[in-house]
Amino acid sequence: MSQWITVLGATGSIGSSTLDVVRRHPARYRIYALTGFSRIAELVSAAIEFGPRFIVVPNEVAAEQARGLLTQAQQDCQVLMGEEALARVASDPEVDMVMASIVGAAGLVPTLAAATSGKRVLLANKEALVMAGPLFMQAIRDNGAELLPIDSEHNAIFQSMPVNYSGDFDEHGIEKILLTASGGPFRNKTKTELLNVTPSQAVAHPNWSMGAKISVDSATLMNKGLELIEACFLFNCRADQIQVVVHPQSIIHSMVQYNDGSVIAELGQPDMRTPIAYGMAWPERIDAGVKHLDLFDIARLDFVQPDHDTFPCLNLAKDAFERGGIFPAVLNAANEVAVAAFLTEQISFLAIPELIEQVMQACPEKTVTCLDDVLGADRWAREQANALLPSYLLDC
Ligand code: NAD
Ligand code: MG
Repeated sequence: MSQWITVLGATGSIGSSTLDVVRRHPARYRIYALTGFSRIAELVSAAIEFGPRFIVVPNEVAAEQARGLLTQAQQDCQVLMGEEALARVASDPEVDMVMASIVGAAGLVPTLAAATSGKRVLLANKEALVMAGPLFMQAIRDNGAELLPIDSEHNAIFQSMPVNYSGDFDEHGIEKILLTASGGPFRNKTKTELLNVTPSQAVAHPNWSMGAKISVDSATLMNKGLELIEACFLFNCRADQIQVVVHPQSIIHSMVQYNDGSVIAELGQPDMRTPIAYGMAWPERIDAGVKHLDLFDIARLDFVQPDHDTFPCLNLAKDAFERGGIFPAVLNAANEVAVAAFLTEQISFLAIPELIEQVMQACPEKTVTCLDDVLGADRWAREQANALLPSYLLDC
């Protein structure tokens, strides 16, 4: 019997890789709903190919365009609109699994809805977990949902962990997680060399092809910072139990070190279809369409320490996790504002960590007991960051 999938963020990089895996297994997977925030024509093309029951778009203008294109193609598909519809298609009873691949805080509510309704959650949207880690993990446990990490590092850690991992490092003889980082496009650059780098240089990742926001995060190392927080929540550990290892080839996707001296790693091509297919089929394995790894082609693997002075975002994230409460949500929101301002050439690359640090410094301690606490912290941090932006604006 086939399984029904909702793809949140179907027009993005992860969304289209997910559709490629589905395309290879038409008898095993059926698309229930596809969502997109822009590129409506592409969303409709996917709807024509995969025949979902629903597509979700942001507003009436987009809905109008989608309906027109669907009618032209004589495709029967209902068009829904807005945030409530995202949560609905993530939680409808017919849905077996949800690919959470909306970028940023916008993915939190529908991803949480998938967890609360007991789905298999394929988690690419790391920002959702960073913002609301304890609430999200509780929702997974309380509702019998399954959480499969799609971020390549966390997927590799999941594969390298004991099968029956209880959430306790000591019980399984785990010493630490070795979280690998490519170092991004600016690895080995000095601060002076980074003074005038442009958005197009920042999004040109050497190994992975990804959306603009995560590409900038990779360049600042905030992506690794968010991933450190993500790993702490997913695997129930402290930040000092995770060591970041810069590994420029991105062949090892992360490792787990055990107290008997063993290190277990997952290796593969830098192609997101591997973790996506793994999450979809787990505990089975299916063809992902990924080129097989040839170690003779790779020949060598390098490992170096991260450069914390040039890339302060990693420590900002570690600090946010250790302070707890609303700090991870505040870090994430300030980063989203800073990255958007950098991508539109309003602020410089080096202003990104400065702006985030300033917002974090102004942040009062506050615990998180419910979703409103998280959403409130997100709003507060965006307001703070936007208020601080003028002092970082570039002269045109
Ligand atoms: P992307 O920018 O390519 O796609 C983002 C998707 O989200 C698009 O479908 C877009 O329409 C949708 N979206 C954007 N804003 C929205 C909003 N306000 N409301 C609803 N939908 C909205 O991004 P991506 O690279 O595919 O990344 C998606 C997520 O997966 C991110 O959280 C990223 O950190 C994570 N991730 C991506 C990769 C990768 O290789 N691309 C790897 C690991 C993790
Ligand atoms: Mg990653």
